[in-house]
Amino acid sequence: MVDPTTSLKRLIGSAAPPLEKARGLRTVEDLLGFWPRRYTPYDSDLSTLREGEYAVVVARVRTANARPMKYRKGRILTVVAAGERGGELDITFFKPHGHEDRLVPGVRAVFAGQVSSFNGRMQLTHPGYELLDEGEDVDRGELVPIYTRVPRLQNWTIMRSVETVLDALDELPDPIPAPVRAARDLPSRLVATRMLHQPRTRGGVEAGRRRMRYEEAFVLQSALAMRRLDGSREATAPRVARPGGLLEAFDARMPFELTEGQRAVGEQIAADLARDVPMHRLLQGEVGSGKTVVALRAMLAVVDSGAQAAILAPTEVLAAQHHRSITTMLGDLAEGGLLGGSDIGTRVALLTGSQSTKARRAALLQAASGEAGLVVGTHALLEASVQFAELGLVVVDEQHRFGVEQRDVLRSKAQQPPHVLVMTATPIPRTVAMTVFGDMETSTLRELPRGRAPITTHVVPEHLPGWMPRTWQRVAEEVAGGGRVYVVCPRIHEDDGAADGADGADLVEEGPPPDADDEPEQWEAPGAEDRPARPPLKSVLRVAAELAENPDLRGVRLGVLHGQLPPEEKEAVMGAFARGDLDVLVSTTVIEVGVDVPEATAMVILDADRFGVSQLHQLRGRVGRGGRPGLCLLVTGTDNEQTRERLEAVAATTDGFRLARLDLTLRREGDILGARQSGGRGSLRFLSLLRDEELVVMAHEDAFAVVAQDPSLAAHPDLAVAVAERLDEEQAAYLERS
Ligand code: ADP
Ligand code: MG
Repeated sequence: MVDPTTSLKRLIGSAAPPLEKARGLRTVEDLLGFWPRRYTPYDSDLSTLREGEYAVVVARVRTANARPMKYRKGRILTVVAAGERGGELDITFFKPHGHEDRLVPGVRAVFAGQVSSFNGRMQLTHPGYELLDEGEDVDRGELVPIYTRVPRLQNWTIMRSVETVLDALDELPDPIPAPVRAARDLPSRLVATRMLHQPRTRGGVEAGRRRMRYEEAFVLQSALAMRRLDGSREATAPRVARPGGLLEAFDARMPFELTEGQRAVGEQIAADLARDVPMHRLLQGEVGSGKTVVALRAMLAVVDSGAQAAILAPTEVLAAQHHRSITTMLGDLAEGGLLGGSDIGTRVALLTGSQSTKARRAALLQAASGEAGLVVGTHALLEASVQFAELGLVVVDEQHRFGVEQRDVLRSKAQQPPHVLVMTATPIPRTVAMTVFGDMETSTLRELPRGRAPITTHVVPEHLPGWMPRTWQRVAEEVAGGGRVYVVCPRIHEDDGAADGADGADLVEEGPPPDADDEPEQWEAPGAEDRPARPPLKSVLRVAAELAENPDLRGVRLGVLHGQLPPEEKEAVMGAFARGDLDVLVSTTVIEVGVDVPEATAMVILDADRFGVSQLHQLRGRVGRGGRPGLCLLVTGTDNEQTRERLEAVAATTDGFRLARLDLTLRREGDILGARQSGGRGSLRFLSLLRDEELVVMAHEDAFAVVAQDPSLAAHPDLAVAVAERLDEEQAAYLERS
């Protein structure tokens, strides 16, 4: 009996060790998952062969000549073969033994190998080949599957090994239930596997791919459906604001009216919190749409009910800002237990990685004792030493920086499952939301608070004369008009070899694509090395020094902010800029997410081409928050057409959803999806969340229906296994990263 776990050694003998060594393939299942990288038609016109390509040719041996080598021991066999539709090719074997008896003049064969050139003639060295009978059609359909190179194995041998394995198999476990396959017109896994490994037509390959894409989406959605179902079966305490409590007091002193959206989402959340199953809600809202207030109101309701709420922020600057703005908004409500504080008040604790031991100890104590109803923090909140008296709500701000796993760590700090609210300002295309947050309900804030002024964005070509001086004059004018300005640089120091971690730009690499290893065709990106070296990236320290010397900026008060400053200094600088004691803040991307200074009216982003689309959008969302029109200047020295287009696209629209889509097409999806999709056998290899929107939606519907009917997947063992593997992989990916 052969099944997916059967060892390859048993089936394909000597081809097995190279496959294991180079690609880690040990079992039938492994080999079948070694999908062809591409397909090539059989070539019978040899005059069009190009050096470096992998060719599969049908040719007839014209001459064959074995002779001793001149400078070495041994003999060499040189065959000249003619293509059935023209052209000629040399074929060389350094160990002719065996081949010289077969490859005699007049014989017809299929040859496969990497084309090289020698003395101006195209040549195959040690190609794989198969003799054909006279008149025999190349009876393999139109296409040859081409596999990623495995040292010491011909593509040919891999094809044969796969064939041997497929012939020995009667069936393959199929995670997609038969009724779903029938309804969606999908071939079984075994049939699809044949379509992809033994292609006959382009149409067949497409059908096979569609099935595999669907499978990936379906397994993923099933995992999410189960997760959501599990969540809805957990029991927890309802958290409801009490009359005359904190929330009411806060609402009474709020300096503005909630927008319609904020009110509606607030009600949704209040309803979720009032239930005895934990909330899992994603709050999406454009940059500046006012998510913080929505979260704060939820947190206050929870404190009212006698529990605590924690908010997890991706950077220290953002955590400090949340702490500051929440404390300010609450006023004496944040002085619970203090003399002069409100009776119904509470305390707001701040926990970050770099605070002093003393401050940290105090915050830990406040969290553990319950004295602090609200706890604001960075990753530091996830550490084991952080404990809560009774954690009722976890808010995760700017989720794209956190994975599901971190959410889970925080959840585990509560006695009973806490409610969870995740906020993101990166608008996510629907299918990505369905995939990354498929286990959550979604709310969206569509409108910005009234009085929000538009942001105008321009691309500034820094190498053109006059543009940079004009840019700095513009900054001076902005300051003279009472505005404040951010100047963003990708580096801290001039000589930073690499980006400085979370602090630096989310650098857009111009090198070969990430899986170049698998794509020899793309190695040839010409001219990459001939390009003149670019000037070093702008650094905060250098730019700040230059601006201080700039006569146009005389009298302008400059501040410097980056991740390597001690936390108190970061805090002090940010505070000074917020108060208006500084006019211009030269900074790294530490200000990227969520920083809120309403008087900031302009932003200059240097080396803007080094930032991703979504990141630029996030950055620019820091200006134009106070009712005065915002200005954003994207400065670039690039002469790369595509890069310019990317920047122009950002300049042309402030529609975050359009930009998020663009971003997704430009970047690897894995970067956006994080651990979930990174590597591993079961990760997304066929599916593209953008291209395959329709399939993802179908798979989502089907998977949720299947799981609703059969929550434990008892009747769907193959699917249960696939889901478990998927979850294991996520786990493994997470452990690897942490
Ligand atoms: P984001 O959704 O990007 O996190 P914030 O919560 O930081 O946005 O809000 C941006 C700014 O808008 C803050 O200064 C906040 O006080 C202000 N704001 C929020 N809601 C309203 C509102 N309803 N009316 C006026 N200003 C508001
Ligand atoms: Mg925010």
